[in-house]
Amino acid sequence: MKQRYLVIDVALCHDCNNCFIACKDEHVMNNWPPYTEAQPRHGHRWMNIQRKERGQYPRIDVAYLPMPCQHCENAPCIAAHPDCISRRDDGIVLIDIEKAKGKKELVDSCPFGAIYWNEDAGVAQKCTMCAHLLDNGWEIPRCAHSCPTGAIQFYTLEPSEMEKKVADEKLERYLPGYNADAHVYYKNLFRYEKLFIAGGVIRDNECLEDAEVTLTGEEVKASQKTNYFGDFKFDNLEPGEYSIAVNGDEVKRVYLDTSLNVGTISV
Ligand code: SF4
Ligand code: SF4
Ligand code: SF4
Repeated sequence: MKQRYLVIDVALCHDCNNCFIACKDEHVMNNWPPYTEAQPRHGHRWMNIQRKERGQYPRIDVAYLPMPCQHCENAPCIAAHPDCISRRDDGIVLIDIEKAKGKKELVDSCPFGAIYWNEDAGVAQKCTMCAHLLDNGWEIPRCAHSCPTGAIQFYTLEPSEMEKKVADEKLERYLPGYNADAHVYYKNLFRYEKLFIAGGVIRDNECLEDAEVTLTGEEVKASQKTNYFGDFKFDNLEPGEYSIAVNGDEVKRVYLDTSLNVGTISV
């Protein structure tokens, strides 16, 4: 049977929060039984945009990771509370608003932190993938509908079609170590999870354009030309030791455990 999936491109998210607000607009002060109670005005982040700054001034960047409930096929929340949480045939995971009443412990059953406690209603809540809309003719949820950059895409596909898409587009799951088999996939996740080495090359106090910079690590050997400002940046790196060479001569050795601006290199 066709399944529901979200694909979120980290490189296209600029933290405008339209998706977050659209989720609030849809769910705050709106009860959608039997899907969910109304979302409280404050405290819940069903679309939780996480932020990470990398590097050191002036070579920094910021990545945003919009994170709703991952609608896991192998959901830890369902394993812990099969009486209260279930997965529909189309892959959407929902909390039963009646059976989950008063059970604050549901919040701790999600390793992604996607379940929130509604103190007033006395119920645990999370992203429903806007199932109430999808079941009434909407083709995409509110967050995907409101994203101006197209960072959030929604698909209804056979699992085999999705498998092909994942392979073709090199999609990844967030925190795969939980083995939750999420139905939310990410593009360009390295922008949030991996490291970079950046720097600048000068000669005679002038930016050196088109210098050949080579980075060598245990599992990486990559080269690039410096840009107009003499800058270079190698991204999607694992922690470890790296050597940097400019025009064939080693100029630096670094140990990378956080994204690094190596500064200005004079050659
Ligand atoms: S609406 Fe799109 S661009 Fe804006 S924060 Fe959400 S995912 Fe990012
Ligand atoms: S992200 Fe959390 S709440 Fe959502 S299905 Fe997975 S374990 Fe359950
Ligand atoms: S799918 Fe619907 S409920 Fe889930 S985060 Fe998006 S707008 Fe909110």
